[in-house]
Amino acid sequence: MDIIHLLPDAVANQIAAGEVIQRPASVIKELMENAIDAGATKIQVVVKNAGRTAIQVIDNGKGMSETDARLAFERHATSKITDAHDLFALRTMGFRGEALASIAAVADVELRTRQPNSDIGTFIEIAASKIIAHEPTVCAEGTSFLVKNLFYNVPARRKFLKSDDTEMRQITQEFQRIVLVYPHIHFELRSGDDLVYDLPASNTRQRITAVFGKKTRNIAQQLVQIEAKTTLGNISGFVGKPEFAMRTANQFFFVNGRYMRHPYFHKAVMQAYDRMLQPDENPAYFIFFDIDPAEIDVNIHPTKTEIKFENERDLWSILTTCVKEALGKFNVAPAIDFDTEGLIDMPVGNVHATDMQPPKVELNPQYNPFAHTAAHHTTTHTDAWQSLYEQPHTPTPLPTEQPPTMQPLFDDTERTATFCYKNKYLLTTVKSGLLVVHRQRAYQRILYERILHQLEMQQSASQRTLFPEILELTPDDNIVFAPLLPDLQALGFDIEPFGKAAYSINGVPALMTDEPDILGVLHNMLYCAKEHDGNLRGELYEALAYEVAKSSAKSQSKTMTADEITPLIDQLFACRQPNTTPDGKTIVAIISDDDLDRRF
Ligand code: ADP
Ligand code: MG
Repeated sequence: MDIIHLLPDAVANQIAAGEVIQRPASVIKELMENAIDAGATKIQVVVKNAGRTAIQVIDNGKGMSETDARLAFERHATSKITDAHDLFALRTMGFRGEALASIAAVADVELRTRQPNSDIGTFIEIAASKIIAHEPTVCAEGTSFLVKNLFYNVPARRKFLKSDDTEMRQITQEFQRIVLVYPHIHFELRSGDDLVYDLPASNTRQRITAVFGKKTRNIAQQLVQIEAKTTLGNISGFVGKPEFAMRTANQFFFVNGRYMRHPYFHKAVMQAYDRMLQPDENPAYFIFFDIDPAEIDVNIHPTKTEIKFENERDLWSILTTCVKEALGKFNVAPAIDFDTEGLIDMPVGNVHATDMQPPKVELNPQYNPFAHTAAHHTTTHTDAWQSLYEQPHTPTPLPTEQPPTMQPLFDDTERTATFCYKNKYLLTTVKSGLLVVHRQRAYQRILYERILHQLEMQQSASQRTLFPEILELTPDDNIVFAPLLPDLQALGFDIEPFGKAAYSINGVPALMTDEPDILGVLHNMLYCAKEHDGNLRGELYEALAYEVAKSSAKSQSKTMTADEITPLIDQLFACRQPNTTPDGKTIVAIISDDDLDRRF
């Protein structure tokens, strides 16, 4: 008996849909790309409930004939390639003929389309993977797709959709990746009744400005144009001046009109900035490659953003050179190299980088690190010392029920010897040798944990600012920012809406000392919120503590006396994580007696 049979089309399409359509943003991407391929000069996107309820994309492109409108929903139905050769000369966005079939397999779809030369259009309605209407209609020139009840028949997908905020953010991200490449097309994005973006036809620089905000970051003046025409292809676009680099920056690569991620070319750009940036700063860039399609791997999955180039090494040098040149030409490169003396060394990266675990701090709410007592005899203290002491020779012992009977690593008689070395390091003796503490980083750690503790205890008082500051956001940033308001208020920000996508900040957490860069801190927190979905409150607390500690623990020039050193070291070792700063830099080192003895 034969047991192999072909899957019904509806099932096959639903399986294929899993690859192409992962979330509302994927639908928007596919429909916008089709509209662009159809030569539209105006494209309107409307979403309801972040696309969960409805997505509509309306274009004024060339439309479809009655037959094509029906065929468009068949798998592998495409007007864009007819044979395999075309694959290598492709410049349109889509070509696999999968998108509409996939969408129709997981949602209800209404299509209205009319070609410019015909008076009457076509209406097609698909529900539960069946065509339930196919009839002539009166409609505008161009095409309108309405996609409803996405994933109605794929509960697993529907369940795994994130919050509306997150899905909306994905949508704006896909939208941005497309509109940046087609500045001559008029785009609109509406979410419910809100007009999130209205981007009239313009040029690339104006488009970047319109998308990423004119007022808040004044992006137009921050950009320098780049341009390289070579036999391997052309590179054009804009890069940010180093002084406007931020912790998280807008960084976009496009190849032949398609957004791509390219870590290798990213390094090429970063190399051009060489030492113009601080370790945790990133420059903005919008870089467009125009390459013969035969030179890049087109056989890529439609949702993948990684792309393989034939001549990556050569393009690397072209890219680095043209970015360097642009930075030089506008005289933004410093004439002499930065003096790295005295700068914080050992960068370990960005505390909020997505691939890095921010250190978790567990606080003992009972413990007040600033009540200076003989605190180093407490368990906390001993534990900290113990783990420090035993590294790296013996593994940290497992916690036992019994309080540890370990002796403290030093006793007070021994610790009378303290010394502040070149205002940068604090030295003291411990049982096993010489303890060296990085002073500024120790401050940062102590402040960080103190602030975090106060935030978690909801003890954060607010202090009024002398003059209210106005925070102006782009509409898409506001989508992320608005839900943070209650948390920010709980943190001590006195902040209220001030018109559309703007806020007036009348007070800040009392912990923020001397002339805090309020807008900078809020922007950094916004970026942090963008990068972390879920557990926002914890992340926010950590982000705020980090920002405030960092801006307050400036380098100290005053020499410390022994009376000041001892409490500081005690406070440090009362911290949960005395060994590293919140962003992972080393705070303490021990030069062991053995090490010392060996030198003599
Ligand atoms: P692909 O874009 O890979 O060809 P799709 O499933 O996205 O596959 O679309 C199938 C076909 O439907 C396209 O090749 C095009 O001919 C037609 N089509 C889709 N959207 C539009 C539109 N907005 N305007 C005109 N034609 C369209
Ligand atoms: Mg397509």
